[in-house]
Amino acid sequence: MDYDTYGSTAVELAIDLANADAQVAGWVEAFLDSHGEWFTEGTVTELSPQQREAVARTSALVRDVAVAQSEPEVMDRLNALLALASPRPYATTHDGELHLHYARPDAEVVEQLTTTVAMGLSQVVVQHGWRRLGVCSAEGCGHVYVDTSRNASRRYCSNTCASRSTVAAYRARQRT
Ligand SMILES: [Zn+2]
Ligand SMILES: [Zn+2]
Repeated sequence: MDYDTYGSTAVELAIDLANADAQVAGWVEAFLDSHGEWFTEGTVTELSPQQREAVARTSALVRDVAVAQSEPEVMDRLNALLALASPRPYATTHDGELHLHYARPDAEVVEQLTTTVAMGLSQVVVQHGWRRLGVCSAEGCGHVYVDTSRNASRRYCSNTCASRSTVAAYRARQRT
């Protein structure tokens, strides 16, 4: 599955946000810095405490959607996230390729982030089904992921977690 063809790589931004470690001081600014390509050049990324809280809330909402266990639960949570979005799509070639952005280019950074994340996540859920989102099965991980595999068979957030779990399962078999 190629999300690019659906204009929806934004779901990766949503997953990254949900997996950001909110225990680390300055995590919001660090997240915005490392995902700067998503925001209009020149967007101010110094945040007020309220803006920081808003980013944390968006992160938690994305996580809520990903861990939901049924379609109605996903819809409820997705709609809570969408209620925070202010979509106003526009076409851009800022990275050399013509594509759509979901938020106003001159919106403040939290509005750009929340809108992009909410729209990207919704698009994937609506087009590919709510089961495409999940939580990593590796012990002690807890990261969420979007399953882009052809047969929707993904169980881990990363190759690291997949191989860690394979090794653990092998060792467990050896012991018995
Ligand atoms: Zn772009
Ligand atoms: Zn993992």
